[in-house]
Amino acid sequence: MSEVRLVVDYSEISIGNRISLSKEDRHYLFNVLKCLPGNSIIVLDGKGRIFKGKIADYKCIEILEEHEDFANDSRNLILCQALLKGDKMDLVIQKSAEIGIRKIIPFVCERCIPKKTNKIKRWRKIVKESTEISKGAFVPEIGDLMDFEELILTTDNGIIFWESAENPLIDALLGLNFSKPVFLIVGPEGGFSKEEIEKARRRGIQIASLGKRILRAETAAIFSLSVVSFLLENYDIIKNK
Ligand code: SAH
Repeated sequence: MSEVRLVVDYSEISIGNRISLSKEDRHYLFNVLKCLPGNSIIVLDGKGRIFKGKIADYKCIEILEEHEDFANDSRNLILCQALLKGDKMDLVIQKSAEIGIRKIIPFVCERCIPKKTNKIKRWRKIVKESTEISKGAFVPEIGDLMDFEELILTTDNGIIFWESAENPLIDALLGLNFSKPVFLIVGPEGGFSKEEIEKARRRGIQIASLGKRILRAETAAIFSLSVVSFLLENYDIIKNK
């Protein structure tokens, strides 16, 4: 079995600490992974700090030492995703955490079918599990649900994806400041209205196309995150070419 990684929701991790395991984590360690007391474990605070620890007993883990390297394996990206029907948000959220981003902000706009959600807690669980499985060190934050107007007021340095846009993604990206968080805004199944796009434009948000094909919202989210994440990771190489 490869090393067991556990993100603990505990802000004051330090050497010698004993941390009580939550019910979910006990289930994950002992029923799913069949761990035993005495086994070593990698413990993460979800914000980049990584510790070596061991399973003290069936209730606690003990922190032994801190890895010297603070892991910076997540891009400074924030996905703003309009609420989608069914379980599609779960997919987008799971994949975003795998790719490695800072935050996901769910929002409601004109053409959203669901107008509210009671899944925020469930999404926080998904990002934790997804980060553990993909060996990430940062757990993306799940923001509170916003409405579109609120969202565009808090979003500077962002791109809104619109299937009727002429501006290609690469041009929109060149207008952004990469030393700040980059917001990517993806619409619902029915897309954004023209008025919404106009409001975003007036707020200085870049409007961009993801190509000639109309992607499903969940594909648009995963595709745009992947492309922008790759560009951010390789920005220095590209710039110096
Ligand atoms: N109902 C619309 C498509 C909406 S696609 C139609 O049939 O025309 C859902 C969301 O994915 C959109 O709001 C947009 O944010 C994003 N999207 C999908 N394809 C896109 C593309 N080619 N360019 C930019 N954004 C796209």
